[in-house]
Amino acid sequence: MRFVLATRNAHKAEEFAHMLAPHGVDPLPDDVVLPPEDGETFAENALGKARAAARATGRVAIADDSGIASAALDGRPGVRSARFAGEDATDAENLAKLLAEAPAGSAVAYICALAYVDPSDGTEHVVEGRCTGTLAAEPRGDGGFGYDPAFLPDDRDDGRTMAEITAAEKAAISHRGRAARALLAWLTSAG
Ligand code: IMP
Repeated sequence: MRFVLATRNAHKAEEFAHMLAPHGVDPLPDDVVLPPEDGETFAENALGKARAAARATGRVAIADDSGIASAALDGRPGVRSARFAGEDATDAENLAKLLAEAPAGSAVAYICALAYVDPSDGTEHVVEGRCTGTLAAEPRGDGGFGYDPAFLPDDRDDGRTMAEITAAEKAAISHRGRAARALLAWLTSAG
């Protein structure tokens, strides 16, 4: 099957293209306008984007929404992860704010909702992937993006942050990797 991926984030598009193989992932046409990510849940935001892409292209569309939740901050920044330090905040500014507000060693979790919309028969399905970890004392590593330099995944015990492991190692344990595998399993079971 081929999907349109409703994202403008090239990094995510590349990650999903690998993770959803053998299915094909096509980029979103430039003229398709995506709705703002102003929902209260990751699922709501992902579904809104997938619906918009499916409606505009007439094709099966998938979209994700993701972020990080800190236990010490009652789940914040959550759906506001990309703009935690302000509307146009950079990854570095958002990460600095998280490290300033949540203590080293406290629990964090990456969450990814992945929505599937087939406009031909109205099928909608949302899966979720989670990756738990703890907050590092200070950022380390150049890989990944966003909060990766301060995220120590529970699935590994070598002390490397998400920004210090390879893309393949990250895909094996990440929220996006888990959500992609859940979608693949659902597609297989749905026939
Ligand atoms: P969105 O899904 O594009 O709305 O992304 C939300 C934000 O969550 C990103 O801007 C990052 O700050 C953060 N985020 C999502 N996934 C990851 C990840 O795999 N590593 C680091 N940060 C992430």
